[in-house]
Amino acid sequence: MFTKILIANRGEIACRVAATARRMGIKTVAVYSEADANAKHVAVCDEAVLIGPAAAKESYLRGEKIIAVAKATGAQAIHPGYGFLSENAEFADACAEAGLVFIGPPASAMRAMGSKSAAKQLMEKANVPLVPGYHGEQQDADFLHAQADKIGYPVLLKASAGGGGKGMRVIENSAQFKDALASCKREAISSFGDDKVLAEKYLQRPRHIEIQVFADTLGNCIYLFERDCSVQRRHQKVLEEAPAPNMPAERRAAMGEAAVAAAKAVGYVGAGTVEFIANQDGSFYFMEMNTRLQVEHPVTEMITGTDLVEWQLRVAAGEPLPKQQHELAINGHSIEARIYAENPEKGFLPSIGTLRHMETPGAVAFELGGAVNLPAGVRIDSGVRAGDAISPFYDPMIAKLIVWGADRKQALARMAQALSQYQIVGLATNIAFLKRLVEGQAFSTADLDTGLIERNHDALFPAAQAAPDAALALAAVSLIESEKDRSAAQSGANAADPWGQALGWRMNHPYLRALSFGDEFAAAKPYGVNVSYRATDWLFSVGTAQPQVLSLMSQDGNDISIKLGERAVHGTVRRDGDMLHVFTNGAHYPLAYNDPMAHAGETESEGGRLTAPMPGKVVAVLAAKGQEVKKGDALVIMEAMKMEHTIAAPHDGVVDEILYSVGDQVADGAPLLAFKTA
Ligand code: ADP
Ligand code: ADP
Ligand code: MG
Repeated sequence: MFTKILIANRGEIACRVAATARRMGIKTVAVYSEADANAKHVAVCDEAVLIGPAAAKESYLRGEKIIAVAKATGAQAIHPGYGFLSENAEFADACAEAGLVFIGPPASAMRAMGSKSAAKQLMEKANVPLVPGYHGEQQDADFLHAQADKIGYPVLLKASAGGGGKGMRVIENSAQFKDALASCKREAISSFGDDKVLAEKYLQRPRHIEIQVFADTLGNCIYLFERDCSVQRRHQKVLEEAPAPNMPAERRAAMGEAAVAAAKAVGYVGAGTVEFIANQDGSFYFMEMNTRLQVEHPVTEMITGTDLVEWQLRVAAGEPLPKQQHELAINGHSIEARIYAENPEKGFLPSIGTLRHMETPGAVAFELGGAVNLPAGVRIDSGVRAGDAISPFYDPMIAKLIVWGADRKQALARMAQALSQYQIVGLATNIAFLKRLVEGQAFSTADLDTGLIERNHDALFPAAQAAPDAALALAAVSLIESEKDRSAAQSGANAADPWGQALGWRMNHPYLRALSFGDEFAAAKPYGVNVSYRATDWLFSVGTAQPQVLSLMSQDGNDISIKLGERAVHGTVRRDGDMLHVFTNGAHYPLAYNDPMAHAGETESEGGRLTAPMPGKVVAVLAAKGQEVKKGDALVIMEAMKMEHTIAAPHDGVVDEILYSVGDQVADGAPLLAFKTA
């Protein structure tokens, strides 16, 4: 076995690989970009070496540099994780030339499966079922058009070198063909540097079912059952589970054997995934083979009690597979949800920024290798900690939340519960969306197909709802109590002096406070919360609603228990600037507090600095030093997450200083220019 390996990746997968290596007594070397100097993967490895600037091309994709680091640090093998160099045959060859073990399949197997078209030609020979279509060499537009007509619409065009759900076009009829081909080829060349496409029948309501295969260098090849990854957005996976619901044992065996045949046809070694697209009637076709460890591999580990990274290391070191086919069995059910920094309501647009606060469900330390024995059935694979940033440079995945249950019903319940305990403040996440998805009728009854999200659009994207009075009451209590803390701190030694405290209670006549909160629902008309102070409690009302008695039961930091009318309410309230993030009853209510005192101390003449709303690049500077501008004039344009953001003048004034120029990278919150009010 190796004594030291280099992990050529970042984020959760680098941490995941490091965890197994540590358990096996293998030392780890991390590589990192300038943007990742303080990243979790750097902290969890034994050594870490800087390999270049943030852009992946200049760091995580620099194969020759990474090989040099491995040599210099005495690592014997390189684990590529997924993405980046994991499916790069040239890199695997270069490792071999440098005398390093590439922890993955032989370069020849990667080459054979790297092109979807070539892979299909091979699979045809191995008698693996294929979606009807054309996957040959001819790329002439008229020829491809005739092929599409022959297949019958709808037809799917796919970039042969594609991946990550990119480079695909659905064509509904012959008239759309020409434009779709041109745009598919454009995307294929820009994303993958290769404009070769294939055309195939676009299946209706299909399921994505994939088989985990594993092979060793001694000729053994087995399958570790299936994963259902049908819940997708933009052809990218959102929820994955194992085993696939309603899978008859004979079909499982048939798909497993087809996958093993596919792997054997290319002389496969290591962990691989054979993806199939399946009709509702159960017929299935080969789609592609991913020649690496897959993002969703944990659900397989949870139901088989295996550690697939340990298997990868053993196989790469020349050992036989730890188990044979007949020694494997399915135990229970596992579901994974990909927690992303993104905004589902805005077309799943990535969101970047700092994880100012993160509370994770009662997760159990990641420990595998024996039978699955997790008391709470919850596992979190994460590459970030509270305080870390999600940057525009890499995938905006925050964590993978994985649950295990004795059956699907229990796994579903645990997933819903774990999602409601996941608290993140600082950027938009898909947590609430995932919860609606998991609890929704379609997923909970396993009515699965790749169109599940679109089909259930209305239920999954409900209109903004009014914040419940329980959430508003928690926000109000949190504010009032924090003022008390502050005034107690101010009165110092006299904290016990009743006259020095801002308790709000006035002898003889009640003190009434009007608090104003806003959110998406109340964008036009904020919630008017009335709190009237009494000796030991308050009267609370929202707008003109009937007042209810409100009292504080207990408080432990940000955790607050209140009594509102006859209800006991528990929640967490996090303050982030003017925002109060209320987490209660499994939901997150971001409330903007319209603080009447907040801007009282500021004078207009102080002017101000204008800051970057998120880390990104300056793409245009539209104002010059000394220039007079009007309120709302665009001053600087930034690009972050492939989106443009305009920074405009908050009021009329003069540009005092411009701190960046076009092309500069700027950090979250960095002042971009100084500004004087006219
Ligand atoms: P999986 O089937 O494991 O979910 P994905 O297709 O989602 O695989 O991709 C896995 C990882 O590889 C992700 O991190 C994704 O961002 C990355 N990835 C996939 N295809 C590409 C590509 N063509 N270029 C760069 N990264 C890619
Ligand atoms: P990628 O390399 O981007 O992962 P895949 O070929 O694996 O590309 O396809 C990704 C997704 O696109 C599938 O999971 C499925 O949802 C959809 N898809 C692919 N082929 C078809 C098809 N022939 N009919 C319907 N949907 C398809
Ligand atoms: Mg795929």
